[in-house]
Amino acid sequence: MENWKLETIAVQAGYTPENGGARIVPITQSTTYKYDDVQSVADLFDLKAAGFFYTRLANPTVDAFEKKIAAMEGGVAAVATSSGQTANALALMNIARTGDHVVAVSSLYGGTVSLFTNTLKKTGILFTMISPEASEEEIQAAIQPNTKAIFAETLANPALIVLDIEKFAKAAHANGLPLVVDNTFPTPFLCNPFKWGADIVTHSTTKYIDGHATSVGGIVVEKGGFDWTNGKFPEFTEPDESYHGLIYTKDFAAAPYSTKLRVQWIRDMGTPMMPFNGFLSMLGCETLHVRMERHCENALAMAEFLEKHPKVAWVNYPGLKSSNQYELAQKYLPKGASGVMCFGVKGGKEAGERAMNSLKLAAICVHVADLRTCVLHPASMTHRQLSEKELIAAGVSPDLVRLSVGLEHIDDLKADFDQALANA
Ligand code: PLP
Repeated sequence: MENWKLETIAVQAGYTPENGGARIVPITQSTTYKYDDVQSVADLFDLKAAGFFYTRLANPTVDAFEKKIAAMEGGVAAVATSSGQTANALALMNIARTGDHVVAVSSLYGGTVSLFTNTLKKTGILFTMISPEASEEEIQAAIQPNTKAIFAETLANPALIVLDIEKFAKAAHANGLPLVVDNTFPTPFLCNPFKWGADIVTHSTTKYIDGHATSVGGIVVEKGGFDWTNGKFPEFTEPDESYHGLIYTKDFAAAPYSTKLRVQWIRDMGTPMMPFNGFLSMLGCETLHVRMERHCENALAMAEFLEKHPKVAWVNYPGLKSSNQYELAQKYLPKGASGVMCFGVKGGKEAGERAMNSLKLAAICVHVADLRTCVLHPASMTHRQLSEKELIAAGVSPDLVRLSVGLEHIDDLKADFDQALANA
């Protein structure tokens, strides 16, 4: 498998049928698993043996999906979760606890900003938000003695700022910290953050990975090789009394982070991905490379069309040569800048709303990154919980319309936006 290209990994990895076995990964819709003797189950509980005993911790269908994504990202292991929100929450709670601190960029998805600055704050984990375009010195200045991680999105939703992953990884590693990146918008097909120095990758698999808008889900992927023994992460190096004193960096040296995430956080919070969602997300992965190529092609064509449209005030798409993100996109997203863009209609927020209300093919949906084209007004929808200051920091102007370009024919999409903009 090591030599396979990403396309082959997407189709083949994660599940290998036995002779005469089902060609497609079966949906193991079962809460539990049968054993013949007590000791086998006791060994599973003590993590002395690998296997399935209760779907809250692990399930064969979800396991196949986790293996596929881990292989696609080039990581050692992955843990699938009930949603992207859970993935991001647990990715950090696995590292930071009350009294700890995380540096995060301000241009995150609104739900993530709210999770960090409201909900996780209540647990005593504090955040410093910095610009996604911060200099090395600015990143360094935000790091405190109790900082446990740096968190960012590879392609910000919806500001579409391309993260300079190498710069953030360098700053994190110089301080003995892991870089955690949410790679939802690029997917492993367009960007592989581990290659550039990230240590942990998260996804809302609800988006392109499922790709058909059927399943809410998330995943956390561990690259492997991060030094958790550097003195900053005692929970990795001290005995876990809930497992009779095992030590993650010693007993699970190959994948200590994901083992701890599953056996502590997924076990105790009860937030695994469910088998049917695992099945659908697995199917989504298998066509991801084909879909992403078309999403990128359609998005670039739409961005060029909107940029020239007399009713459009501005367009933000990192694949456009006019974008100030173009150079970073060429480096980190050479196969395409994904399928999402933002634009403003001349006449501002009200004109934008009139155009959105006039769309016939594209729909107004609180979703992004699936095969049907949709639009959304972040300031009144996904980013509604943010203050005015946070909206500006997240790159959300009042007139911003977010467009997620689907897989319809480009001529039909252009015609729909042309007629809608005529009503703006
Ligand atoms: N991360 C990003 C970049 C997102 O866009 C979203 C949702 O839109 C999430 C995380 C949260 O994912 P979910 O809706 O699956 O909980």
